[in-house]
Amino acid sequence: MAEKSSETMKKIVSLAKRRGFIFQSSEIYGGLKACYDYGPLGVELKRNVKNAWWRDIVHKREDVVGLDCSIIMHPDVWKTSGHLAGFSDPLVDCKNCKERFRADHAPEREPGSETTYLEGGKSSGKKVKGVVGEQGYICPVCGCGDLSDERQFNLMFRTSLGPVDPMQELINHIDELSGLDKNARKEKVAEIINKSAVYLRPETAQGMFVNFKNILDSSRVKPPFGIAQQGKSYRNEITTSNLTFRTCEFEQMELEFFVEPGTDDEWYDYWKNARLNWYKSLGISEERLRLREHEVSELAHYAKGCSDVEYFYPFENEEGEGEWGELEGIANRTDYDLTKHAEATGKDLTYFETETKKRYIPYVIEPAAGADRATLAFLCDAFCEETVTDAKGNEDIRSILKFHPRLAPIKAAVFPLVKKDGMPEKAREIVDALLDEGISTTYDQAGAIGRRYRRMDEVGTPWCITVDGDSLNDDTVTVRDRDTMEQQRMPVSEVIAFIKSKLR
Ligand code: ATP
Repeated sequence: MAEKSSETMKKIVSLAKRRGFIFQSSEIYGGLKACYDYGPLGVELKRNVKNAWWRDIVHKREDVVGLDCSIIMHPDVWKTSGHLAGFSDPLVDCKNCKERFRADHAPEREPGSETTYLEGGKSSGKKVKGVVGEQGYICPVCGCGDLSDERQFNLMFRTSLGPVDPMQELINHIDELSGLDKNARKEKVAEIINKSAVYLRPETAQGMFVNFKNILDSSRVKPPFGIAQQGKSYRNEITTSNLTFRTCEFEQMELEFFVEPGTDDEWYDYWKNARLNWYKSLGISEERLRLREHEVSELAHYAKGCSDVEYFYPFENEEGEGEWGELEGIANRTDYDLTKHAEATGKDLTYFETETKKRYIPYVIEPAAGADRATLAFLCDAFCEETVTDAKGNEDIRSILKFHPRLAPIKAAVFPLVKKDGMPEKAREIVDALLDEGISTTYDQAGAIGRRYRRMDEVGTPWCITVDGDSLNDDTVTVRDRDTMEQQRMPVSEVIAFIKSKLR
């Protein structure tokens, strides 16, 4: 029987912790909800994902330049972008289990239809019948249809900049505030706080729009061209779940590609396919990957089109069968952002084409990916277990992370067959030579060779190089392939070229 996805996810979470990929943040203090740290292997994996993206989007293209903006930007940027007023999710509370969740993510049901839920929430276990309310959805945790009204909640983290402490300012005004009615008090508090309020960016994209003119003036670029950025973004997400899939602090890899109006449909199609193929080129299984075009009703008011690259994550859902989740969104944002920033600042954000004498505000195609979600997808997709039989006929489970070699945190492991007769020294020489070439390599001499192979399979190391007695005489080693377990003998002098050719 096929294993339930939730079991797979449990194994992945356990492996991620045990082998140093992902830890709960501040774990010794009891952990912080939905915050995670990348351990020694996780940081390498995520870095490899980001490097692969940067290499393919920026370094390998002549029409894209990079950018690295500050996380805190002028607060008016967020007014113009609509984030301060509109960057909010409809939130709902379940009156039965008290869970707070996003209305747009709740399981949909026919209004008025019957629903079965667990009275008092998860722990009571008593199943009772209820009715789905007018909203047409139920609580994702207990299945109840008795829900509060939807409320808007700002997802941006606010902090303050400058010498004025907003708390102290509020205390200074406390008498004045207590004399005001509720609405006037709210307005006064907002006035005091807004004097020094700044926000942690909820997306990297606005940095590209506000630097559009700087880049036009300082670089030899002209549409069609793109500006790419990787960096942290912050959203005070209420419903966080599934390891690093949805967290409050995460890293984005975004490209804003500026094109002449009229050519935007063509470029939109181009980037949709290019981005889908990027994941495939790094080994994600095709049957777990899809491109989902948004319905017109799902589109942001300024967007002409939007598609998500989705991955079938092994998350537990109602059926326990895994679920499709967004990896990356590709949107045709039209000229909305540049037009809005031009209006707000009075700056000219048009492009003038000298040859044709055409002046226009470029349209923008935006492939916006998440580094953490991509890393998680690569981790989930790479995970597999195989039953293997040893020389004595005993069956064993081989746990493997079949990472694409470019993404593997460790590329090669070098083992001396035994800890004597000059083998460790020879193995160390090979490690040094590989490290010198920038190939991340580890040395392991502990335990039986089979156990060492298993340890490397479990963290996804593509090649294990073993130094044995013959190596000392003829300068050859065995190179074992992680996926096929086949071993080939080759001269030490060819190992570097062999690995490099595979990484290319
Ligand atoms: P969702 O609908 O899942 O909340 P979104 O459509 O709001 O995502 P975008 O604003 O398009 O996401 O951001 C681009 C990418 O950034 C997403 O495709 C995702 O990979 C990543 N991302 C967004 N929010 C989060 C988060 N809270 N945690 C981790 N990654 C995120």
